[in-house]
Amino acid sequence: MTFKELGLAEPILKALETEGYTHPTPIQEQAIPILLTGKDLLGVAQTGTGKTAAFGIPILHHLYEAISLSQNKRKVKALVVTPTRELAIQIGESFTAYGRHTGLKNTVIFGGVKQGKQVNALRAGVDIIIATPGRLLDLMNQGFITFRDLEFVVLDEADQMLDMGFIHDIKKIIAKLPPKRQSLFFSATMPKSIVELSRKMLGDFERVTIKPEQATAEKVEQGVYFVSKGNKPKLLVHLLEQRPSDSVLVFSRTKHGANKIVKKLDQAGIQSAAIHGNKSQVARQKALGAFKEGKLKVLVATDIAARGIDVEELSLVVNYDLPNVSETYVHRIGRTGRASASGIALSFCDKEERPYLRDIEKLIRQEVPRMPQHQFVDEGIDEEKDDRPAQKPRNQRNAGNSNRSGNSNFRGKNNRNQNRGKNNGTGSTNTNR
Ligand code: AMP
Repeated sequence: MTFKELGLAEPILKALETEGYTHPTPIQEQAIPILLTGKDLLGVAQTGTGKTAAFGIPILHHLYEAISLSQNKRKVKALVVTPTRELAIQIGESFTAYGRHTGLKNTVIFGGVKQGKQVNALRAGVDIIIATPGRLLDLMNQGFITFRDLEFVVLDEADQMLDMGFIHDIKKIIAKLPPKRQSLFFSATMPKSIVELSRKMLGDFERVTIKPEQATAEKVEQGVYFVSKGNKPKLLVHLLEQRPSDSVLVFSRTKHGANKIVKKLDQAGIQSAAIHGNKSQVARQKALGAFKEGKLKVLVATDIAARGIDVEELSLVVNYDLPNVSETYVHRIGRTGRASASGIALSFCDKEERPYLRDIEKLIRQEVPRMPQHQFVDEGIDEEKDDRPAQKPRNQRNAGNSNRSGNSNFRGKNNRNQNRGKNNGTGSTNTNR
């Protein structure tokens, strides 16, 4: 199946060509035809599957087709609500890129920065708003946004929004939308609370499910080191020294832990930066910007700060701590090996984290390959006995390069294009007109 066969408008096909997308991903192939018929959609999928384009493309297609019919001043016709500022900015970039020949305008709304620029963008008129819940509700209550003409609403990463306590804001926002609209609901997991919320929001809907293992197992080479807490910094420094030119995202379970990792790396002469909730929005954007541009090679992040981060050429994800929620592992390793690229995810597992590893392996229905013994790996840690021999990660290239010093020489290949639209991250308007 090609994008052309999906019957999309010419300007969108042209933009997808520029993006280097030749074929739709599974979620796009399933969701786009449903959305083009005007039905509601429940998408069970995480980032990394191509879900932004799965909802962005049909919305842009529909709005573009309707432009010539309407001579009115711009009105907000589509709203995307998403949990984090970083994700909102990224989705805004995607709308700008896919819609670059349509003349449609989008703007990004999020908290933590002054509202003036965002209000100015709204006053100038936009077709599409991408927003985090708190600031959106705030601007709605101040009368800067009206959704009288809204045709599409997308709730993205719904499970994460609930985890972050946005449920009341979301209900208030939905209550203010016109009942006649097309609603899209995306969540990586479907606990009971999410099922209930989706029932409230969706009308006659179809469901599309992209299983986590499809996203992880196929694209990302995984490996786990059994290492004591005390040896984790040395192992990380060692791995990073082996790949000085690679972009590496390191996950820490806590904000404090993230700061400590940056300090340790600094002591070892490796430049890095941390992004987490205690950092100012400006600091987070600065670090993320430098990382995206390849000026900063190592970014240390907590889960919430990193959720949905989409970085070109991200070749390695390191789980410095294993997450205690298994789904988080899937989200984390999905940062590398994005749609058409392949990547590597290496995890550090200390003794206390062994139960987390077992839960993760249950979820992804595969064993995370054990990395070969290594000078910083505690021989003793594995005593509970995992009698399984150390394995090489699936599809490992350069397999002959692995050795006992841990010089596993993974190389992530990334063939993603470099033509993504840029957003200055200040909530300014992106337009192609
Ligand atoms: P998402 O799940 O929306 O965060 O998308 C993951 C990544 O896949 C993004 O970097 C997109 O630019 C990329 N992508 C989305 N759709 C396609 C496609 N059909 N072909 C190649 N790359 C894609």
